[in-house]
Amino acid sequence: MTVAIHATALAPYACHPVASRGRRYTEPSAPTRTEFQRDRDRIVHSTAFRRLVYKTQVFLNHEGDLFRTRLTHSLEVAQLGRSIARTLGLSEDLVEAIALAHDLGHTPFGHAGQDALNDCMGHSDRGGFEHNLQSLRVVDELEERYPAYNGLNLCFETREGILKHCSRTNATQLNAQEPGGVAQRFLTSGQPSLEAQLCNLADEIAYNAHDIDDGVRSGLITLTQLQDVPLFDRFRAEALREYPHLATSPRRLLYEAIRRMLSAQVYDVINATQVAIEAVNPTSVDAVRASRSLVMFGDDMRRESNALKHFLFHNLYRHPQVVRSMAQAKRIVADLFPLYLTTPSEMQSGFAAQAAATLTDSTRARVVADYIAGMTDRFATREHARLTGAAL
Ligand code: MG
Repeated sequence: MTVAIHATALAPYACHPVASRGRRYTEPSAPTRTEFQRDRDRIVHSTAFRRLVYKTQVFLNHEGDLFRTRLTHSLEVAQLGRSIARTLGLSEDLVEAIALAHDLGHTPFGHAGQDALNDCMGHSDRGGFEHNLQSLRVVDELEERYPAYNGLNLCFETREGILKHCSRTNATQLNAQEPGGVAQRFLTSGQPSLEAQLCNLADEIAYNAHDIDDGVRSGLITLTQLQDVPLFDRFRAEALREYPHLATSPRRLLYEAIRRMLSAQVYDVINATQVAIEAVNPTSVDAVRASRSLVMFGDDMRRESNALKHFLFHNLYRHPQVVRSMAQAKRIVADLFPLYLTTPSEMQSGFAAQAAATLTDSTRARVVADYIAGMTDRFATREHARLTGAAL
């Protein structure tokens, strides 16, 4: 498989920092950094970013020191995304900014936390809870770092990439606040930039690979079980043929198989995307936005990646041990929510004051949801013990 690795200049279909659609609050440009580099730096310095280290990806943070957390996951997404972006002539800086920010809105305890919070926000007019929308809310509203505005005041292109999914109801609401803004494409079925599309796929590549690693490390899935996954097993067999001594080093064999699988997926995305770009020939980012989705796996890799996802869903995410700890996590969120709603003074001062100042159930519930969503796993666990006296 041959792949060009020389592209350094941005392609015409890439997002150029000088052609950015700008920030919500106009600011002078920085003397030494492009706008997307500046966004990346703002994200790295944010409070929400530092919290990612104590937030669950699949395994609860306290279950082991070597499992992925949201932070290491985000770094891996950035690494994969940048490798691909470089070859396709896309903006590496923008890809890095989106990748590092893509999970900022995640609740503690991974998807279990989000599901529980969505249940709490689900009834009456509370508007639900969705982590992509929350990631945007973090960078637009919740970070308090600048004197003149809330949020990080990121570029349109970074915010567009962060809002990866959005329901029609939420998009309508967002678009009313920001006409023609980042939510518009969910109403018109448009696409985001190629950098945003790429982060989406890099996210999938990253978690499929690291969940195999973490799954085997935890003992919840085995190398023998993984022989049923063609995408993985092909590279395991290949590595073993080349290095027979790996038969007695299962961990090195696992790493080598994952490394080969990652490379194959990266090359596949590059090739399939180059073909799609050549076919559509977009000459600007707006042409990309009006076109079909262009960053993709080839058909075979898409099928194999889906089979791997299916395997992980049934054997890891639905493993009784994972389900058990997720049930506890859901209980923590489900218990905390009504406690804060009825006694806002139990929250930290800024949130307590905001909740006290709001009159309607839905606005107060949103303050509580923001507070809980921002928690790390261990802070939520400690708060649960403090407020309920229950030991989980
Ligand atoms: Mg992710």
